[in-house]
Amino acid sequence: MLAQRTALLNPSGTAAARATAKAAAAKGEEIIDLTAGEIWADIAPSVREGAIAAISRNLNRYTDTIGLMELRHALACKISAEATQPWSADEIAVTSGAKQALFNAAMALLNPGDEVLIPAPYWTTFPAQIVVAGGKPVFIETRHNNFVPRLTDLVAAITSKTKAIVVNTPNNPTGSIYDRDILAGIAKLAIDRDLWIIFDECYGAFAHAPHTHHPIVSVAPQARDRTLIVNSFSKSLALTGWRIGYLAGPKAVISAAKTLQSHTTSNPNVIAQHALLHYLERGDPAFQLQLQNHVANARARGLSILSGLTSVPSPAAQGGFYFYLDLTELLRRTNRNGREFNADDVVNALLTDAGIATVSGTAFGDPAGVRLSYGIDLELLDKGLQRLTATLNTWN
Ligand code: PLP
Repeated sequence: MLAQRTALLNPSGTAAARATAKAAAAKGEEIIDLTAGEIWADIAPSVREGAIAAISRNLNRYTDTIGLMELRHALACKISAEATQPWSADEIAVTSGAKQALFNAAMALLNPGDEVLIPAPYWTTFPAQIVVAGGKPVFIETRHNNFVPRLTDLVAAITSKTKAIVVNTPNNPTGSIYDRDILAGIAKLAIDRDLWIIFDECYGAFAHAPHTHHPIVSVAPQARDRTLIVNSFSKSLALTGWRIGYLAGPKAVISAAKTLQSHTTSNPNVIAQHALLHYLERGDPAFQLQLQNHVANARARGLSILSGLTSVPSPAAQGGFYFYLDLTELLRRTNRNGREFNADDVVNALLTDAGIATVSGTAFGDPAGVRLSYGIDLELLDKGLQRLTATLNTWN
């Protein structure tokens, strides 16, 4: 009865983990939820002011499909500063979050059967959108190289059908940050083999010293005409519910994305657009610093608790706000009832035995990892990670 494409997709694994946590909490169980892909924080004062002013001005109508021209100009200034080279408004489309920017990119670039390289573990939506667009995800294992792809592995996976590579740094779920060398190598490979680069830098605001986030176009300006930058304010300003992000790239792609968006969602929410414009014009350095300090603090406290794990190495957590636990050794040692355990079993046991909700690596194409978000309240984080450490240590 339903279209075949509905069978191509599974529900988002991260959303399912969140729902399981909520269901357990609704039954009265005390659950500490470490599944969130968002930071618990207030709204930035400048964003709040901009939104209230827009409502007071009765701004209730459609805007240009890919956003207010003033906002696109302001985003061009932001990207120019980050990429250390000039960008213009006609190279930018405002979208309803980064998810729409990625979807527009997949729909604008891919023909049926085109292959897209995705380093694994990967954020679950990348392959899902590629499949909907008719493409074929090709996964590149990264565990053996601290969750950063090796150029040789990328080269080995390229075929005559390869059209693009997804680069997500800082990475969700692994927290790895790609350094300048690997970014330069990927850019050169893309140029040599005529590939697009889909560069998702949604977590770029959270790079933990000594690691630094580098936009790929700042490292390799010569790859700019084949790079699509995807970003949003969901993570950097803790505005997940406002649904505002952007796609930046060559004018032809932006124009195709505009046509597509004109037949799907039209413009992103007008109040969110004005709020972000106000934020970009006014700046809110105090809020940003506070948010970054909050995340840095949570990371430090979390790493100190997780250092007590006996069969799980401390996660690198170079960027973003996730700890990604590598369970390879724990799973090797744990062989209850003579059967092979994987990350799903660990996640289920953590929920039932310790009252902690986490996301299994299987949601990210990896049966040997678990993702823990540290974007939550610090006291809850402490309690959750202490329970997790105590529980996993009994498995040795
Ligand atoms: N890209 C990555 C790597 C993400 O982790 C997420 C959300 O979790 C997104 C994009 C989507 O962000 P948005 O909420 O702006 O659509």
